[in-house]
Amino acid sequence: MSQRVLVLGGGIAGTAAAIALARRGHPVTVVERDPPPADPTADPFLHWPRRGVPQFRLPHGFSARARNLLLRHAPDVLARLRASGVEEMNLFKRLIPEDRWVPADDTFTNVWARRAVFELALRLTAEEEPGVEFRCPAVANGLRFDWTSAGPRVAAVRLADGDVLTADVVLDCLGQRSPVSRWLAAEGIRVPTEVQDCETVYYSRYFRFTDTCELPRTSVATLRGEFADGWFIGFPGDHDTYAFSFECHPDNRSARALRHTTIWEAVARGIPALAPWVDPANGTPLEGVQVMAGNRSLRRRYVVDGRPVVLGLLSAGDSLCASNPAYGWGSAMALTYAFAAAGAVAVGAGDPVATALAYDAATAREADAVYRESAAMDRARIYRITGQPVPDEDRAEMARQDLISAALSGGVLHDLELGRAFNRRVNLVGPAEAVLDGTDLIHHAERLTALR
Ligand SMILES: Cc1cc2nc3c(=O)[nH]c(=O)nc-3n(C[C@H](O)[C@H](O)[C@H](O)COP(=O)(O)OP(=O)(O)OC[C@H]3O[C@@H](n4cnc5c(N)ncnc54)[C@H](O)[C@@H]3O)c2cc1C
Repeated sequence: MSQRVLVLGGGIAGTAAAIALARRGHPVTVVERDPPPADPTADPFLHWPRRGVPQFRLPHGFSARARNLLLRHAPDVLARLRASGVEEMNLFKRLIPEDRWVPADDTFTNVWARRAVFELALRLTAEEEPGVEFRCPAVANGLRFDWTSAGPRVAAVRLADGDVLTADVVLDCLGQRSPVSRWLAAEGIRVPTEVQDCETVYYSRYFRFTDTCELPRTSVATLRGEFADGWFIGFPGDHDTYAFSFECHPDNRSARALRHTTIWEAVARGIPALAPWVDPANGTPLEGVQVMAGNRSLRRRYVVDGRPVVLGLLSAGDSLCASNPAYGWGSAMALTYAFAAAGAVAVGAGDPVATALAYDAATAREADAVYRESAAMDRARIYRITGQPVPDEDRAEMARQDLISAALSGGVLHDLELGRAFNRRVNLVGPAEAVLDGTDLIHHAERLTALR
């Protein structure tokens, strides 16, 4: 049964959902506050203003789950990325002898692209989809409700220009700062929400390899480590680009100077592993330092005790569940929720209660697991940095984190099964509740220890 769907937000979740919904026969309107790319052939990193996505120019790593989902649900998006020159890379297979490969290792292939390039491929595919229309630039600024015997139902969305758009289903893809739960609260509809600050500030910078650079380019993906003020991590990009991000605690006052390009460069040059990569002989900066703070792990629940808190509304992407960007799970989970939403609209067949319950059944376990793990990993790091004692109620969770850390330091490069368990975890290959739980990883680490 065809449903008119209004997708709020045309980022990763919104465009992916629009593609999937339209392909199931639902007419879709995407409301997006930012203008479309003026020239789709120009480098979107440099030429697409995206004020609605503050992380647009910050480094992203696209996990294997993101690629696997595109292969299954929107292979043409992956084909478009490839055609535009984006590379895919399976570092695990690259690092082990060919005669040890098994078919499942193919599921560990990552997409090496800048966020802007990845998003442009989704956006252009959505624009070409016959059932998708963009209202853009247009700002969503409120909801209208019908009060039915089954509960409140979202009937329409108000735009800042005064227009009101009606729909059978509204999909909130407005990102982590989505105002939708506030709009619901104003009507007395409570969305239970868990939030934990990531307590991380990112100071990042993109470069492009020079023609004369002789560094082993793929090794940028494995560059990571500690420095005086926190951690650094390397990101491979598309079209000879790469980035480094410094990740520091917000209370670290000396780290704040990293926002200045000269200081960022001086610090990078002082780290032996990074120095050659920021040498002008090897890389030309694409921009100044990009700073981002205030990220949160977040989980909103729209079904409570088996009942939807509101009808006619689903939430996908960071507005439903966000994790610390440092773990690289956000985009893949945004795609997960987006494709699940399209499936739930089909299963619900016009029944808003059935749609909400089908969506919750498809997403809740994974969203809970991602939130739990992101928040727990952050607390483990924060206790370590600040020296705060672990409260009694967090002891068991922190003991699990310690076991996982010990397993990760136990030779993921030297034992194939441990390496595979590690890859399943970082790439979210498998149900999130299983791969993030750590049991698999700990089991292989213990087996390895017993063998030594
Ligand atoms: C610093 C940083 C680094 C990250 N690194 C990684 C990484 O390495 N790997 C990874 O997988 N993920 C990473 N992420 C997470 C990833 O960016 C998000 O998970 C992903 O963007 C979520 O997609 P989304 O569509 O839910 O939200 P968004 O991409 O934020 O899209 C929301 C959209 O809604 C629009 N919008 C907002 N308000 C309105 C309104 N009122 N009306 C109309 N439109 C509106 C915005 O313009 C935007 O287009 C990172 C995030 C951050 C902050």
